[in-house]
Amino acid sequence: MKVHVDVEEAMLTNDRGTMIPGVIVTCSECGESVQVFGTSEASIRRGCANLKELCMSNNWYTPDDE
Ligand SMILES: [Zn+2]
Repeated sequence: MKVHVDVEEAMLTNDRGTMIPGVIVTCSECGESVQVFGTSEASIRRGCANLKELCMSNNWYTPDDE
């Protein structure tokens, strides 16, 4: 089952307290969300992979804006 995710660009803070552009990927089904540094497609894919582990529902995530 494919689940749409909301991808929102945001400024994230890394371990050193530096603001870095990133994305927040949110599952539209359960509302779980993950933050990923970087705004490239690879970053979004990584966020989807991380989200899949959090969600534990064996869903495939697809970004809304593709
Ligand atoms: Zn979910």
